[in-house]
Amino acid sequence: MKTKDLILIVEDDPGISKMLQFTLTQDGYGCVIAENLKSAYRLFQVNNPDIILLDLGLPDGDGKTLIKNVRSQAMTPIIVISARHAEQEIVAALDTGADDYVLKPFSGIELSARIRSAQRRLLGIIPSQQHIVCGELVLQIETLIVSKNETILKLTPTEFNLLKYFMLHPNQVVTHSRILKEVWGVGYQHEMHYLRTFVNSLRKKIENDPSRPQYIITQMGVGYRFYCQNDSISKE
Ligand code: CA
Repeated sequence: MKTKDLILIVEDDPGISKMLQFTLTQDGYGCVIAENLKSAYRLFQVNNPDIILLDLGLPDGDGKTLIKNVRSQAMTPIIVISARHAEQEIVAALDTGADDYVLKPFSGIELSARIRSAQRRLLGIIPSQQHIVCGELVLQIETLIVSKNETILKLTPTEFNLLKYFMLHPNQVVTHSRILKEVWGVGYQHEMHYLRTFVNSLRKKIENDPSRPQYIITQMGVGYRFYCQNDSISKE
């Protein structure tokens, strides 16, 4: 990691942006603040931030516009911070390309953990690693072998690809349609039964108790979150 990562805070409520800046500066980040979409886009282009924290309700439009603009040119992690609790809002932001969604009010500790997760994921996308470890699970990318506690699991190719997608996006809410698009391909976004079937079969193979999953956590109405212990902040 670089010595000082830069965070672009897009927030029109000065009370919140000041609080964020205070917390993040203490965590060792640099910060720039934009109060609207226009200045956010300008600051994004000028500063090339490492992370973007984005409010959705902005005076000159919807924050999702910025997600679209950024995604057309960069992989910069975007964490939405919003008071909008509706499932459709969360799904829409994630499907547009946001990496995570934090509901207001939020704690500084929670936010720091989400930021670190997003940074790790970005490192994970750069395929330098031969294997991914989450808790007791080890997935070897080249050899297509998955093991749990050193016992090899027999997965079908689709189960392997689904698990690989989850393990590359640890602790992140991923929507149904995004998983279907990434694992099955464009055109499969609405084939919810495929996903449900394969999540069930995968759970039977990787979970200690498939009826009370510890890895593949259901996010009602939105998608799934793959819980990965070693990716989370283990200082709590
Ligand atoms: Ca706002």
